[in-house]
Amino acid sequence: VISVKNLNKDFDGVEVLRDINIDILSGTTTCILGPSGSGKSTFLRCLNWLEHPSSGEIRIDGVVIGQSSKKANGKRASSRALNKVRTNICMVFQHFALWPHLTVLENVTIAPINVLGRSKIEAEQMGKTLLKRVGLEDKLHVYPHTLSGGQKQRVAISRALAMEPKVLLFDEPTSALDPEMVNEVLSVMRELAKDGMTMVVVTHEMNFASDVADSIVFMDRGLIREVSPPEVFFNNPQTERARQFIAPGC
Ligand code: ATP
Ligand code: MG
Repeated sequence: VISVKNLNKDFDGVEVLRDINIDILSGTTTCILGPSGSGKSTFLRCLNWLEHPSSGEIRIDGVVIGQSSKKANGKRASSRALNKVRTNICMVFQHFALWPHLTVLENVTIAPINVLGRSKIEAEQMGKTLLKRVGLEDKLHVYPHTLSGGQKQRVAISRALAMEPKVLLFDEPTSALDPEMVNEVLSVMRELAKDGMTMVVVTHEMNFASDVADSIVFMDRGLIREVSPPEVFFNNPQTERARQFIAPGC
């Protein structure tokens, strides 16, 4: 679905992503691992154009989603084209980013109604189905502040799914959660993987990565150091840096 070629990103001359090349296949789960500051979030944000790459190309289903700012001489993808990308690739954030003034169901239905042009009835029907799937059918009409962190994140996942995206991006979806709530979110994500959703997940949950990922991408200092299947990455990492990351001090 996604093909990234020679992607670079700098912030005011500081290189944050360096020559990233990767293909993400339909129906797979890719976990991105790496130390803090290695560029994981920036990479994810480039994929749905929340950040503009400094150079390089990102294709979604073969279509270039906007030339890099330098190449295109300051000309960027039209806002219509961008909206299309954003509806195809939805992001779930560490801190949920729910609308506080909307109920749970409204959080899930607002974008399908406003962006996809769904009728209210249609969007609500779908929203209820999605929220039921994540075990929140009794929370439809409450406001986010009354929910636990795990429940908020499950709403955020439902909200992303309501856009019927081709790809779901997750940026450390469980790292703001109390330990007992981590599993309720991970198990929703496991189900999605099993159902064939294409997912790119930045995470520190090694068990999840090892069980669920089809592919592990290890980043360090803006570079992709290694792309391996989890059984290779965790048992026999191909780089010294990855070895240190998995077993610090060894
Ligand atoms: P973490 O595990 O801590 O979330 P990360 O791998 O997600 O780290 P990024 O957030 O992508 O790392 O950051 C990579 C580098 O880019 C960091 O050095 C960071 O300071 C820098 N950076 C990120 N966003 C910006 C920005 N908007 N402006 C300037 N520098 C930035
Ligand atoms: Mg990050």
